This record gives sequence, structure tokens and C-alpha cells, in this order.
Amino acid sequence: MKRYLLRLMPEQPLRLTDETTIPTAALRGALADVLLATCVPGHEHDTGPCGAHCRYWALFGEGISVRFGPAYLGTGDDTSPLLLTARTCSRAPGFKTADGHGVFDIAIRQSIFEQAVVNPQQLLAPFSLRCPVCNAPLISYTGLVTRQSEREYAKVEAVSATITEAQASFGRVRRQVVAPHNPSATLIARSHYYVARLELPEGLEPTFKQAISAGLWLGAGRMRGFGAVRAELVPDTLSWPTLTERLKGFNRAMRAERRYYAAMNPVGLPATGSLDDGEWYFTLDLSSPAIANYAKHPSVIPALAQLPGIVPIRSWLSSGVEGGWHAAAGLPRPTRLGVTGVVLYRVPAENNRAAVDEVLTFLDTEGIGVGRERGYGAVTVCDPFHLLMEPL
Ligand SMILES: [Zn+2]
Ligand SMILES: [Zn+2]
Repeated sequence: MKRYLLRLMPEQPLRLTDETTIPTAALRGALADVLLATCVPGHEHDTGPCGAHCRYWALFGEGISVRFGPAYLGTGDDTSPLLLTARTCSRAPGFKTADGHGVFDIAIRQSIFEQAVVNPQQLLAPFSLRCPVCNAPLISYTGLVTRQSEREYAKVEAVSATITEAQASFGRVRRQVVAPHNPSATLIARSHYYVARLELPEGLEPTFKQAISAGLWLGAGRMRGFGAVRAELVPDTLSWPTLTERLKGFNRAMRAERRYYAAMNPVGLPATGSLDDGEWYFTLDLSSPAIANYAKHPSVIPALAQLPGIVPIRSWLSSGVEGGWHAAAGLPRPTRLGVTGVVLYRVPAENNRAAVDEVLTFLDTEGIGVGRERGYGAVTVCDPFHLLMEPL
């Protein structure tokens, strides 16, 4: 598999439920539509390709996995939703570069504080969910951000104008307008475009590029003046630390935070969590919804059945209903509960390090839960955003 970015530049107003995000299912549907246009009309691809040169089968056939993430709207290639552990000031929300009191991540500080401190009133400077600048309460900071450099982010906002088109049909019998409808659509600013992360099996790049060469159509009102986007496939060259580097950085920050509390309040550390006893931590960060396999595990928190002894110790989760449309079959898919957020796990010292690393590598590349090929359950292990503990 090779990683790519799929850039989508809107050429027409779009009619989407959420103009900031194009769900994976909609992207797959749009690609399926342009492929099916060259197929034998009426052929049911559930049974196999429609012919020797079936373009649909080349990308969506049996045994081929083309993996899409959702496409996010931003001003650069590195755009993604903020983690659920991002916080900002309730009085002056936002990044410092945008005149806010700053945005930072609380996963490490909050979890260590909760597990390490028995008597917070004895501490000189306990962790609190308050703004370091003005002491106002913190609030979650959600939405999309474009990463411009290692420590520089810009919130994606106010990028579109809504346009309304008047349409009506005229009733011949009663000679009056019936069913007027005014579809509204979003005109995306030229400075912004959508980017989706994509994985393709080796060798499929030319096929994919040919499929998108005449553009894609997204959202409602396609082919009727809405939804045309120009599409571009480029190799994913975003610099992203390796899994080993991310785990190292995360655990270094966790240890530093524990040392801080140990120095201030040595009796506060529980007996099971003494410093440097070999235990370590990781997070699973889910920014596209994960759908749990309830047949195997009755919880929304991802279970790591392969890793006995490793337990989730803290989670920040949000859930929503996921559904979709099967373009080729022309049928709706069942709706299920999808979960996004952050789960923190503790690895006891006695766990075999190599075995854990193997599972984490698998999760980091393959994701978790069901519906992976439709973009659900993409996982990042120890997103570097957790290290941004000071307001940016
Ligand atoms: Zn076909
Ligand atoms: Zn503040």
C-alpha cells in the first residue's frame, strides 16, 4: 500500500450537510459514480466485473482495498479535526496567533493529575481546567485545523458563502406555483480546498488518476450546476514522526509530568504507580468514527483482546450515528454507533514490549473496528498534538 493525498478543488457550489467535511462514503460514492459511467448499464457488480475492462472492478473489486479517510476543508494539505482533548479559554478562545488565549492538549496533564494526586489541596500548583492567561474556565476546542509548521496551526473558519437558487414548478390546472423550493448551496472560497488521505495498492495509481481526470461530483444536485470538483492525486509527503518516535515523545512527557507531582507531593503517588517502574502508556486517537464490533466486545472503547493486562485508564469520547449509501448496489447501509475521541492505555512493565509494538503498528496502519475500507476506525497512536501542553 502507498499513501496519497487526494486534493479536491470545488469548481461549483456544493450542497453538503457539513461543508467542512466530505465523509468517506461520499468520496467512495463519487469515485464509484465516475467509474460506473463507463460500465455495462444495469450490471450488478455484486456478482463480479461487467467485462474484461471494467474500471469499477479495477478499484472496487474483490480483494482490492482502496482506503479513504474523510476529506477535510482547509488551507493546506495537513488539515484534520482537533483531538477531543484540545482545550481553550472560554473567554478568549482560539490560537494565540489569532488573538485567543491559546489552545492546548490536556490528556497527559489531566490523566496524571487524576491518578497521581490524592490531596490536590496540598499542592502548590495543581492542574486545573482553567485558562493560564486569565483563569477563565476551559472549554473544548473542536473543528478543523490546518497545521502550517510543527507548532503552528490555523483554525479553519468562515470559508464559504451560502447561495440560494430559486426554483419552482408551475401547476397547470390551478395556474399557480406549486412546491417552490430554494436549494441552498455553499460556495467555497478559492483559498480553501479539501484533502483526503488515501491508501492505494501498488500499481493502481494510473487507474485511479485516470478515474478522477475529468473531476468528481459531490453532494446533492450533482450535474445540475452543483458539486463539480477538480481532483488531484499526489504522494503523501507530510512529515509525520514514526510510531517509535511518537511513543517515545509521549512517554517522556508522561514521565516528566509524574515527576513534577512526585517532587511536590511524594506521598500522593499510589503504591502501584511509583516512578520509572517500567510501565508505559499510549493513546489511541480516533478522529474518524470507529464502529465497535459488538459481536465480539460490548463497549465503545476499543478492546485490545490481543494484549492482556493492558487496560484503558482514561477516555475522552464522543459518539454519533453513522450510516451510508452503497453506490454500486444502490442500497442504504445500516446505521451504527460510531465513536471518536482519545483513549489512554497503561502497559504494565511485565508485558512483552515487542508484542505490544507489533499490535500498535498494526492499529496505526490498519485501524480498528469494522468498516475500515469505508474510512471508519482510522487510528493514530500517540498523536503528537498531545505534547502541546502549553497554550499555542
Ligand atoms: Zn463494470
Ligand atoms: Zn483566558
